[in-house]
Amino acid sequence: MFPKPYKTITSCQIHEVMTKTYERFRTDTQGKNADYIPYLANVDPSLFGISVCLLDGTVLSVGDHDFRFGIESVSKVHTAVLAMQHSGPDTVMRRIGANATGLPFDSIMAILLEKERPSTPLVNAGAIAACSLVKPIGDAEGKWQAIRQNIAALSGEEDGSAIPLIEELYASESATNFNNRSIAWLLKDFGRIYDDPEVSLDLYTRQCSLGITADQLAIAAATIANDGKNPKTGVQVFDAELAPKVTSLATTVGFYERTGDWLYDAGIPAKSGVGGGVMGIMPGLFGICAFAPPLDPSGNSVKAQMAIKAIMKELDVNVFASSHLTMVDC
Ligand code: GLN
Repeated sequence: MFPKPYKTITSCQIHEVMTKTYERFRTDTQGKNADYIPYLANVDPSLFGISVCLLDGTVLSVGDHDFRFGIESVSKVHTAVLAMQHSGPDTVMRRIGANATGLPFDSIMAILLEKERPSTPLVNAGAIAACSLVKPIGDAEGKWQAIRQNIAALSGEEDGSAIPLIEELYASESATNFNNRSIAWLLKDFGRIYDDPEVSLDLYTRQCSLGITADQLAIAAATIANDGKNPKTGVQVFDAELAPKVTSLATTVGFYERTGDWLYDAGIPAKSGVGGGVMGIMPGLFGICAFAPPLDPSGNSVKAQMAIKAIMKELDVNVFASSHLTMVDC
């Protein structure tokens, strides 16, 4: 074996970098709240929080880390895990796929271009198809309980009620999701949805409307970074072999058509949501989440992206770099 270069880091150093980064970007006003879902337009744009969960279960936080915001598309990661856990990674590959679309998250063109599958569970079409794969097939309430319980378990919570539905967001999104409805029925026409299309669409809409905190998303990311074992609860939430697969999905399409730009600069697989959350997975080291509502034109939080990039740079951590980083005590 060739010795690899290594560096050491403490949780105190990480928290210091997080605090510095928070102060640096706190007053930045770039970007604009999502407004195609009316509820999101009215969320306070100055909210900003950062959270890191280490693999020993330590959660480090700054700012609005316990504010409950709409999880939105970050939930696609959680339900991709569940679909893989229920049907196996090969079935998810065969029936949904794992390719980047290079197109916006709600693209209908992407469905038309991809001949056989929705392409990936991390865009709307694939996420609705992933909801259709969740078991028990044909049982809307049973499926919803499974989706919610899985999100709770990933977030370090025992019970689904710890991740409440934001009723106003759910109503707002249900009243305006015409494009997603078209996607669900187009998938039906192509034979690429595996349960009732309306039920699958509603499950997707509901999961997107769950209220989550930056702490909870950092814990979920750390669970993936820790091969499926939740570092806070010690529960093995999903099979370890699925962790690199779900991380690969975030790597290829976490920021939709801007994913390459993100990876090039940030060096961490991550997934965004139009609620303003970004959840980053650093395998073997930590999970990170930054939250701030104003978005770039592709629907990714501007401030969350800036914060995570700055933290990765300052810590000198990069998933593509050869050097190892080891956690040591403060
Ligand atoms: N629920 C939202 C939608 O389907 C999620 C989009 C997102 O977060 N990128 O449009």
